[in-house]
Amino acid sequence: MNSDHLSADISEVLLDEDSIHARLAEVAAEVDRDYAGRDLLLVGVLKGAVVVMADFIRHLNSHVTMDWMAISSYGSGTKSSGVVRILKDVDIDLTDKDVLIVEDILDTGLTLSWLMENLRSRGPASVEVFTFLRKPEAVQVELEPKYVGFDIPNEFVVGYGLDYAEQYRNMRQVGVLRPSVYGR
Ligand code: 5GP
Repeated sequence: MNSDHLSADISEVLLDEDSIHARLAEVAAEVDRDYAGRDLLLVGVLKGAVVVMADFIRHLNSHVTMDWMAISSYGSGTKSSGVVRILKDVDIDLTDKDVLIVEDILDTGLTLSWLMENLRSRGPASVEVFTFLRKPEAVQVELEPKYVGFDIPNEFVVGYGLDYAEQYRNMRQVGVLRPSVYGR
């Protein structure tokens, strides 16, 4: 990756900053309404959800708490297998909490299905999902996220928290990575 400019490696910008923030504000208004008077705990999945979480919580007007999990999913290359290991667990007790998992992207949904089952076994009042992005394959999964930021085409995207080889997370837009970048 020799380019000094992140955008030089992007073939198409799918979502710009303004559309991202406008959509986050809409979802936040729904969440404020749906969880009014309840004990909402947002659980972010590291590291991809860091950027969406940071912006999303600042669009919320309710009292919320936030915690993080790190999980590793064993898979071949870019596909996950659904076999998951917890690398960092939440610190906050989930008992009677309304948990909203904040994810960067829903693809096969295997990782998230496992995570929902795991959190549901800990006595929360509810467990739901807000995924920032959703890919077409996700419709085959039983898992129905309560909130979806954007439905995107089946392309490998980076930016706004999403990485390729740990890079591009700091890009302000979501874009499709040029295939030539993979070849390097
Ligand atoms: P799933 O279990 O839903 O197939 O896997 C979701 C995970 O795969 C995401 O949390 C993300 O780490 C990775 N992933 C899936 N599609 C993409 C993509 O287009 N771009 C990036 N950067 N990661 C992706």
